Amino acid sequence: MTDIVHTPPATLTRAREIALGEGLQYVYTGNVHDTTGGTTYCPGCHQALIVRDWYNIKRCDITPDGKCPHCATPVAGAFETFHGQFGRRRIPLAINRR
Ligand SMILES: [Zn+2]
Repeated sequence: MTDIVHTPPATLTRAREIALGEGLQYVYTGNVHDTTGGTTYCPGCHQALIVRDWYNIKRCDITPDGKCPHCATPVAGAFETFHGQFGRRRIPLAINRR
């Protein structure tokens, strides 16, 4: 697939904005350096909670029970306690299929 041109970052940003405008809450640009497009924002108070740049998680401010620390709105997902810098590592995920 090296013959296919990469999607321009501006197209990803526009698609994200359209999705957010339609009411989706967790929409991200991927495989690009775009901290705004890679960040998880609280659906209640809109504070930045998980700040990412590409695969680098720069900050994670979600309570261990999966809520915004500013307004206690639940954030969709499964979370563990985040200690310091996570970096660019990825965690393998096993999905059970029936
Ligand atoms: Zn909040």
